[in-house]
Amino acid sequence: MRNFGLAKGEKVSLFIMSLLLSGFTTIAFHFPFFNTVLENVSSNFNGYWLTFSAMVIMLALNFFFYSLLLFLGRFAGKCIIAFTLIADAVTLYFINTYNVLIDRDMMGNFYNTQYSEASSFFSWILLLYILLLGVLPSVFLFVKKVNYGTVKGFFKNIGLALLVIVLFLLTNFKNVTWIDSQAPVLGSKLMPWSYTINTFRYYNHWKKINQKEILLPDVQAKSNTKDVVVLIIGESARSMNFSFYGYQRETTPLMRADSVVALKAKASNTNTIDAVKAILSHQSAKGELYEILPNYLNRNGVDVYWRRSNWGTPPLHFEHEYDKGKLKEIYLQADAQYDGILFHNLHDHIEQSTADKVFIGIHTYTSHGPEYYKNSPDSLKLFFPECRSVEMSQAKYEELINAYDNSIVYTDFLVHGVIEMLKKYPDRRCCVLFVSDHGESLGEGGLYMHGVPLMMAPDYQTDIPFLVWTSDNAPAVKETDGQVSHYHVFHSILKFYGMETPFYDESKNIFK
Ligand SMILES: [Zn+2]
Repeated sequence: MRNFGLAKGEKVSLFIMSLLLSGFTTIAFHFPFFNTVLENVSSNFNGYWLTFSAMVIMLALNFFFYSLLLFLGRFAGKCIIAFTLIADAVTLYFINTYNVLIDRDMMGNFYNTQYSEASSFFSWILLLYILLLGVLPSVFLFVKKVNYGTVKGFFKNIGLALLVIVLFLLTNFKNVTWIDSQAPVLGSKLMPWSYTINTFRYYNHWKKINQKEILLPDVQAKSNTKDVVVLIIGESARSMNFSFYGYQRETTPLMRADSVVALKAKASNTNTIDAVKAILSHQSAKGELYEILPNYLNRNGVDVYWRRSNWGTPPLHFEHEYDKGKLKEIYLQADAQYDGILFHNLHDHIEQSTADKVFIGIHTYTSHGPEYYKNSPDSLKLFFPECRSVEMSQAKYEELINAYDNSIVYTDFLVHGVIEMLKKYPDRRCCVLFVSDHGESLGEGGLYMHGVPLMMAPDYQTDIPFLVWTSDNAPAVKETDGQVSHYHVFHSILKFYGMETPFYDESKNIFK
């Protein structure tokens, strides 16, 4: 009987090696893919044929590329394949644990994750995935010698693979619309294609985002009032967990006593980078970058300060930008473990400023997952027991909600602190805006965190709090039953400062 060169010491043919690798990839990494296929096809012959075809095409496609890499790359090809196996293992872990879609935005989140955040995702299960599904097959790949054969044999191999792909595509011709409609979700679960293709897509997008911003026309006139605006950008805060929006639990007692106004709002995006850009932009701009609010205000005579524990804002062009580390250097006594550091001695900026108008932007992190419990200090927590695991899908729903709600309670405490501070400046007209970048899924419908493409994102990920407080001497919020958006921030702040500009849009103003 032939042993296909698998016996010890024997060389294995390129054909068998490629087949083994693609078979392993199909079986080991594609349970989520086939689950999604089976959930979405009808239970008839066509549905099963489609599922079977997907499996064969995947097998042939990976066979094609593994053959190509091994034949042309030899040792380098083995290195690339080993790298993808390990990356496949990590990706599969994230799909299984967080039910995330590996699309362009998710790769953006990945490349923008800093070490401190990445370490919070570490778990022993992840290590197990890497060892069993990544390292082990890679060891086999390196140890086993391959007989690469002739050029003719190589072309026969890849020709066969292409033929199989074309044939199976043709038999599914009538399923084209189905495939097209499911492509974003299915594609995000195909390995190693999901992360390689989306890495390229993300870098294209990133290059565009970092293009020079298009300057907006200067302010033509402004009021001579002395104003302070504090814009607080929330992270993953969803409106349904704020008492303002009908939540049964009292998560925001302090802000409610402050007579804060809560407006109904929808996020423009479910990922931080695009959502923050929208909060700071005067209009939606796909692929383009208009001058963002803090840069615009700074260029037009407002004293601008920016504090952040989060990231993902377009480039800021002014001096007073403080991340947590910089704040810690200034305020040695302050506790830098939580977002509280961003609010420490905030009045210093108002005292320092010599301009009539002051703008303070604060980009927070407080409700960022998966370890919600880590973002609020014990002394302020109200709900127990809290989920303390990173394995969200294994967590008890109530415990996850408790940990998340404690982050909202902490947000209430922080925003209330700003309001209290501003009350000490009765000669200034003051305003506090709290707007979240996007919402968050906490296991509803099997989804966690955020990042589902907007057109199919559940309300949990898109309904955001938009909270406004103004001092007694400042314009109040207009009565409205409508819904506001991220783009209301820019125009409302222009209105608040009494700034006249050619691009001002009254329909996006919340003030009287
Ligand atoms: Zn975010």
